[in-house]
Amino acid sequence: MIQSRVRNLGFSEDERFLFPFHSRQLPTYAWPIVVVGAGAAGAAAALAASESGREVLVLRKGGGEDSNTFQAQGGIAAVLSAEDHFDLHIQDTLEVGCGLSEPDVVSYIVREGPEGIRWLRELGVPFDQPEDHGDKGSSLSREGGHSRSRVFSSGGDSTGQAIQLRMNAALQGDPRITVMNHFRAVDLLVSEGRCIGVLGLDANENPVQVLGGAVILATGASGQIYRETTNPDVATADGLAMAFRAGASVRDMEFFQFHPTTLYIAGAARVLISEAVRGAGAVLRDRRGDRVMEGVHPLGDLAPRDVVSRAILDRMVSIGDTNVFLDATGIPDVKKHFPQIARMCASFGIDITQDPIPVRPGAHYMVGGVQTDLKARSDLPGLFACGEVASSGLHGANRLASNSLLEAIVLGRVAGCEAAEEAIEPSSLKCNPHMHFAPRRTSEPGAPLNLGDMLYSMKSLMWREAGLLREGDQLRDSLEKLRFWEKVLLRREGRSHGLLDLRNMLLASRLLCLSALSREESRGTHFRKDFPEMAGEEGRFHTVLRRELHS
Ligand SMILES: Cc1cc2nc3c(=O)[nH]c(=O)nc-3n(C[C@H](O)[C@H](O)[C@H](O)COP(=O)(O)OP(=O)(O)OC[C@H]3O[C@@H](n4cnc5c(N)ncnc54)[C@H](O)[C@@H]3O)c2cc1C
Repeated sequence: MIQSRVRNLGFSEDERFLFPFHSRQLPTYAWPIVVVGAGAAGAAAALAASESGREVLVLRKGGGEDSNTFQAQGGIAAVLSAEDHFDLHIQDTLEVGCGLSEPDVVSYIVREGPEGIRWLRELGVPFDQPEDHGDKGSSLSREGGHSRSRVFSSGGDSTGQAIQLRMNAALQGDPRITVMNHFRAVDLLVSEGRCIGVLGLDANENPVQVLGGAVILATGASGQIYRETTNPDVATADGLAMAFRAGASVRDMEFFQFHPTTLYIAGAARVLISEAVRGAGAVLRDRRGDRVMEGVHPLGDLAPRDVVSRAILDRMVSIGDTNVFLDATGIPDVKKHFPQIARMCASFGIDITQDPIPVRPGAHYMVGGVQTDLKARSDLPGLFACGEVASSGLHGANRLASNSLLEAIVLGRVAGCEAAEEAIEPSSLKCNPHMHFAPRRTSEPGAPLNLGDMLYSMKSLMWREAGLLREGDQLRDSLEKLRFWEKVLLRREGRSHGLLDLRNMLLASRLLCLSALSREESRGTHFRKDFPEMAGEEGRFHTVLRRELHS
């Protein structure tokens, strides 16, 4: 086990919940298992809990396609080829994790990979690789950091979509599972030290409380804290912020992976151009046609994501451009291999068989999250977490490509089974009917606030000061600004989605900056201009933050 440096963060009781409520006045539901989020992790957890015989309620903020899972392109890693071995996948994961992955967690997840693929096939996921591919490792893709071809795909670059759609169908067809769409979980309810449910807004935006014998948090990512991101709108750090406010520990928040190649067209969404395109032979060039990765790293265009991202940023700065280009024109049958990317580029008039694709880095994957053990338990009894919202210990300081869907499936199922076993009967939940929250307002609400402006300022600040390159003074400055904005919002009442999203993202950003400031070295995705080297043994620690309530 790697040691943790734990910091308790003073947290005012006025910040404990995002809106005032009184338990007695709220409509109340009670379910044996409550799962928040229905991407790969939440759906896997719900299906596993149901397989264990429990009734499950799934709450999701949007519809069935509003998830990072739906966006995933490249695929899911697992050892199934005769040319591959568990030890190799474990070794690759540990190497990319830069000394901070927990070896027992890595070993467990990697060894469960083949079972994860089998289970997905059973759900009907149509993988491109035939089931009896035996030793034909060549039908699998290879991505950066993997020493063997071991990435399973579906529909070429539509793997996440295929997984999400099959899981949605499985949820819908399961008589023990109820799904509430457009239900926004806002905070976790805690009684006598145990998480007993969720406070949220139903589809009509009315506050309700949902009690659960066990609660599984699977709310995914937080990429929306950055101006440039591959993450969809739903990725606003809700679960992370909810867990922290409720008293669970969050870990390794300084590590956020940036993807080197997101489509860059001003005004268009920053859509990911999968690493598999470089795996198939595409190369990065600047506007003069010069290769970006030449002489930078022995793996060239397939160097680790953080290395490629920083090289792109360097080149953009040195030649004064807003982007570089991904040249995929040399890939035979490129449109056949990457139909979704080809279609999307074509919608902007870019023919990938002839035109270079304008790209720049974007925030992609939250490596840190709610601290969990191998049973997906957080340190708040009754609360489980899985998928991107969790920090299970798999990724360490950086994530190996295609390991996150694997983690979501494997630990999602673990979370479902463990929660089913540990859940207490909803009828015996000790919910205090007088539980209420009425924050003190320090002043009357002032002039109208432009939330959109504050949101954009936060995203720009995070991109500039806490993105690919960080520095102590800038992080300190960011912390001051973030805290100031948080305090401004604390005085505002309201339950608009914009306000709730922003409060969660400001908190997540602050936790990220605090962790980044405390790590005085460069490791994995975390690069400090003022500490550019990776420290020795003294840098091998997890950064853990916990809140300490005071009145
Ligand atoms: C463009 C892109 C490409 C990627 N490609 C790959 C890849 O090829 N391979 C790979 O392994 N990984 C990939 N990833 C990462 C991977 O997709 C995610 O890590 C993984 O899908 C996360 O799954 P999840 O279930 O934890 O979260 P998600 O799939 O994001 O699901 C989160 C769920 O929580 C719900 N939710 C959020 N907030 C609330 C709330 N307040 N109340 C109720 N519900 C809420 C959402 O509606 C959603 O249902 C990619 C990510 C992106 C963005």
